[in-house]
Amino acid sequence: MLRVTWENWSGTVAVTPAEVACPRDVEEVVEVVRRAGRAGRQVTAVGSGHSFTPLAEARDVQLRLDHLTGIVAVEPGGRVRVRAGTRLRELSALLARHGLALENLGDIDAQTVAGAVATGTHGTGARFGGLATQVAALELVTGDGRLLRLGEGAGPPVEGVVVGLGALGVVTEVTLRCVPAFTLHAVEDTERYDAVLESLDERVERHDHVEFYWFPYTDRCLTKTNTRRPGPPERPLPRWRRVLEDEVLSNGVYRAVNEVGRRRPRAVPALNRLAARALSRREYDDVSSRVFATTRRVRFVESEYAVPRESLVPVLGALRAWVAAHPEAAVQFPVEVRFAAADDVWLSTAYRRPTAYVAVHQFHRSPAADYFHAVEAIAAEHGGRPHWGKLHGLDATALTARYPRLPEVLALREELDPQRVLTNRHLRRLLGE
Ligand SMILES: Cc1cc2nc3c(=O)[nH]c(=O)nc-3n(C[C@H](O)[C@H](O)[C@H](O)COP(=O)(O)OP(=O)(O)OC[C@H]3O[C@@H](n4cnc5c(N)ncnc54)[C@H](O)[C@@H]3O)c2cc1C
Repeated sequence: MLRVTWENWSGTVAVTPAEVACPRDVEEVVEVVRRAGRAGRQVTAVGSGHSFTPLAEARDVQLRLDHLTGIVAVEPGGRVRVRAGTRLRELSALLARHGLALENLGDIDAQTVAGAVATGTHGTGARFGGLATQVAALELVTGDGRLLRLGEGAGPPVEGVVVGLGALGVVTEVTLRCVPAFTLHAVEDTERYDAVLESLDERVERHDHVEFYWFPYTDRCLTKTNTRRPGPPERPLPRWRRVLEDEVLSNGVYRAVNEVGRRRPRAVPALNRLAARALSRREYDDVSSRVFATTRRVRFVESEYAVPRESLVPVLGALRAWVAAHPEAAVQFPVEVRFAAADDVWLSTAYRRPTAYVAVHQFHRSPAADYFHAVEAIAAEHGGRPHWGKLHGLDATALTARYPRLPEVLALREELDPQRVLTNRHLRRLLGE
């Protein structure tokens, strides 16, 4: 049999599965899981491979849901049943035909619905939750090969299973609570770091979706402020400008700048100043999915912590002090800050606390370990919860202290996957044997 090596988007994981299964329907998913159980093998579902951690590393059976895509049904009230392997980009296009949209999105839309939901993927907005909070029901195949529908009265609660890391079942269908299609009015600007922090509470309260990027070694931030509006867009960016700014500058030129920085780390502060100055103010509107999601072609590695909203300023202060004291770290990518409402999803990074996210990135070919360890230590002081799909060094003990419902999720794992068919090396570190 031909064995093909699989790599994730960032290049942090490469693995050659013993078997690749591409079931054509739910019955075949059940069969793959049952067969693996009988043979004492492990099954790992993979989405679009956009997790930085080895969550989707499959050494035995890699399960790809490439054939399980599209909308199953649009129900009254905007509930939409979607097959698990549908990419978010494809889903937004399908929803638009029904006059619907996802309530909120992260900054890319290349992920599959099941993969994005499984790790707690989120966007920004102090009144909004991540994708998992929009899930009303789930259909999944348990580790012992049962087909369950959750969210219809019977079985474990959806909020306990939805951020399931692939360990509680192979999700075959997700029912999402969608909203009427809307326009986003976008304002992007560069501002001084101090000015952004001084007005932050008011900004985050007043506007629907606020995020900002601080450029290390500078006092500059790129701010993005998106406001929801009904009706169709009136002032979308002209295509030439989108191509020039989002493709040529943000991807093509930025890649070249990062290559220079990798080879000449001492030039990084000057390059960051240049990058921050090159940004110009933009104001436009467009359909929500086109504003939320951007194209990321420059590969990077990333780590992200969710901290209590009130810890944001001290966390950023400590981070900036560390960067200033460690010029050898040569941090090439900006630090990204976002917000979310408290929610009730057991393994959500925003579980029961209004949240600020601090995400750190580094060019994929440059060293990142010392920087990421430092950020992990800073976040730990504030009970920072790592994003499940982004790099971190925490194990089951440390995670239990940050995720209060983790013991209950482990109990669900006993019920849904008693033989540990749905596990891999990384999950053993996170959840234990
Ligand atoms: C460029 C880039 C930008 C990103 N931006 C954001 C962002 O804005 N916000 C954010 O929160 N995250 C972001 N992420 C992280 C990303 O959203 C998550 O890692 C997400 O889980 C990736 O989805 P995927 O489809 O690629 O899943 P994969 O990475 O392939 O898999 C993720 C997990 O889902 C499980 N899984 C996949 N399919 C199934 C299934 N059918 N049933 C059960 N489990 C399944 C896998 O086993 C694995 O545990 C970004 C990542 C990249 C590379």
